[in-house]
Amino acid sequence: MSIYPDEYQEHVLNAPDVCSGCFSIVRVERELPARGWHAAETYYARNEQTTSVEHVQAETVSETEQVFCECGVASAFDRVWADRDMDRSRFRAMLKRLMHSVERKGLTINRQRMAAHALQAYGRQHTTDDDVQVRIVTDVDAALAQGLNVGLRAAVTSPSASTA
Ligand SMILES: [Zn+2]
Repeated sequence: MSIYPDEYQEHVLNAPDVCSGCFSIVRVERELPARGWHAAETYYARNEQTTSVEHVQAETVSETEQVFCECGVASAFDRVWADRDMDRSRFRAMLKRLMHSVERKGLTINRQRMAAHALQAYGRQHTTDDDVQVRIVTDVDAALAQGLNVGLRAAVTSPSASTA
C-alpha cells in the first residue's frame, strides 16, 4: 500500500470521520459533558446526513446492523471504485467533496490553489499516449494528496486568499 503525504493520509485516508470512498464526513465529533466521576470526553457519532443504518446478514445479532455511507461502503476506510474507474468529471466532484470535508474538519485551505494543483496532477498522469494508445491510469490519491498539500501550504502563506 502506498503512502501519501502526511496530511492526506492523516486527515482523509486514516481518519475515522472521512469516508475514503467518497470523502463525505461520515462521523461527527460529539462531546459528553462531565458527569459525576466521569470527565468530559469526545466521541465520534454517525453523521445522519451522509449515512444510514442497514440490516445485513450476520453471524450474531449485534452484527446485523451496520452503518453505511451514501456511497455504499460500511467502513470509513473502504471504497468501491478503483483508479481506472475515475474520469475527469468524477475526479472534480471528488475533489470538491474533499475540499468541503477538510474545511468542515477545521483545516484552512486555499481552494483555488488546491483545485488547480490537483487537477494538474490528475491531468498530467492521465494524458493519452497517441503512439501506443495506452490510457495511463491516474493515481487518484496521489493527485488529491498533492493538491491538499499545496492548498494547506498556500493558506498558510497567504491567509487572505483562503476559504472561499
Ligand atoms: Zn462514502
